[in-house]
Amino acid sequence: MKHVKEHFAVVGGGLVGSLWALMAARRGHQVDIYERRDDPRKGSALGGRSINLALSDRGWRALEKAGMLDKVREIAMPIQGRLMHAVDGHTTFQRYGQEGQPGVLGDGQCIYSVSRAGLNRMLIEAAEGHEGVQVHFGHKCADVDLRRQDAVGLTFEHGGEPVNVEADRVFGTDGAFSAVRDRMMRTDRFDYEQKYLAHGYKEIEMKANADGSFKMREDALHIWPRGNFMLMALPNPNGTFTCTLFAPFEGHDESFENWGDDAAVTALFQRQFPDVLPLLPNLLDDWNDHPTSSLVMVRCEPWHRGERVCLMGDAAHAIVPFYGQGMNSGMEDCTVLDDLLDSEPDWGTVMSEYTRLRKPAGDAILELALRNYVEMRDLTGDPRFLLQKKIEARLQQRYPDEWLPLYSQVTFSHTPYHEALAAGAAQDAIMHEVMDRPDIEAVWDSEEVAEAAMAKLRALHHA
Ligand SMILES: Cc1cc2nc3c(=O)[nH]c(=O)nc-3n(C[C@H](O)[C@H](O)[C@H](O)COP(=O)(O)OP(=O)(O)OC[C@H]3O[C@@H](n4cnc5c(N)ncnc54)[C@H](O)[C@@H]3O)c2cc1C
Repeated sequence: MKHVKEHFAVVGGGLVGSLWALMAARRGHQVDIYERRDDPRKGSALGGRSINLALSDRGWRALEKAGMLDKVREIAMPIQGRLMHAVDGHTTFQRYGQEGQPGVLGDGQCIYSVSRAGLNRMLIEAAEGHEGVQVHFGHKCADVDLRRQDAVGLTFEHGGEPVNVEADRVFGTDGAFSAVRDRMMRTDRFDYEQKYLAHGYKEIEMKANADGSFKMREDALHIWPRGNFMLMALPNPNGTFTCTLFAPFEGHDESFENWGDDAAVTALFQRQFPDVLPLLPNLLDDWNDHPTSSLVMVRCEPWHRGERVCLMGDAAHAIVPFYGQGMNSGMEDCTVLDDLLDSEPDWGTVMSEYTRLRKPAGDAILELALRNYVEMRDLTGDPRFLLQKKIEARLQQRYPDEWLPLYSQVTFSHTPYHEALAAGAAQDAIMHEVMDRPDIEAVWDSEEVAEAAMAKLRALHHA
């Protein structure tokens, strides 16, 4: 379906904004990106939250649509599964994908570690390299005039001066504290909810060995599950790992408020992460230099205002990072919007369909991410949970067309997140019954257990 070529303003040149600008320009629109920060090539870094990110199928599909798959592949490091570390040093590996399944890059089903700054720079440069895109760094959105019918007025602060522009459509991709959304909040029947997680995080770098090699297995996301808190580590192509400690800010024995000095931090690592301590000679320097950051969650509705303004990425749905889907879901917003431009002739329908399709998905991935925090920090250290995952993996192997575990649906499929959430709940109910068998440890791999689980699943589908 052809849309008239228009002038778009994309507010925020982060991961989602730069990708969307590129997609829109490839459709022939004239796009201006307004980014609050200065040009990262002139010194400052874009992004500024996590160092690296897990990129999976939903993100890859959007990158492919924007013609960026081959470029991003160059900076992507495959991660095959998660490796859990017990306090006694014992480790358990759990593969993410199904063995033998071709992955999105043809190298097996896995997720990929990418540098946030590297990916953002690549996307901004690709957008800027397109004749239809102009990037304006150092432009902070201060106001959006939503009253006009024929266009949208925007005011930016640039070098201490206001800059007024207008655009046919505005895409708010300015992150969790979006100025565009802020303005929409002051309109009738716009719902908004913001909540902070009671847990925060701190990043510590694990340096490479002197010869540049990794200090731990590099094709894994490492987790040290410790009940109410956890340490995780994701590799970077330069031989380092970014380690992130997630824990309550306060109110528990093991919480940031009780790790206030060097002795307490060293004691924490001796007590809880003794295998990592020798690999982190810079622990105390990083601990003292790096902030303890908070995690915010945002829900709002609708994700559009009339037919001229639209929210995408964290501006519409900021979630906690425990499913590795924040960026991926934001990129999927771009895919869905781009698909709608193919199928819907008028912008009013495009925008309302976008909210209708994406809002339940956004709510579902937030819910899934919150649940996955409990799974990662607590359940991955529980032998019964690991057995359940083994049974589910076996069901997937035996009945690949019928049993797709929740993690696979979220990470390796394009099933809408809310449908994956519902399917996962049905599987979970079945697995509880399976795990209730007193002899499950002995018979977990039997035909009988598998058939009983599948009979229940099929009955649910026919109900
Ligand atoms: C610790 C952590 C780990 C994470 N790990 C993963 C992961 O493994 N996988 C994953 O998929 N996701 C992950 N995420 C989530 C991911 O970082 C976000 O979902 C993603 O960055 C959202 O992209 P965005 O472009 O919507 O917003 P942002 O990346 O926040 O970009 C917004 C941009 O808008 C700019 N901006 C803000 N305000 C204004 C303004 N007023 N005017 C102009 N510009 C403005 C900002 O400078 C920024 O460049 C993680 C998040 C955290 C905190």
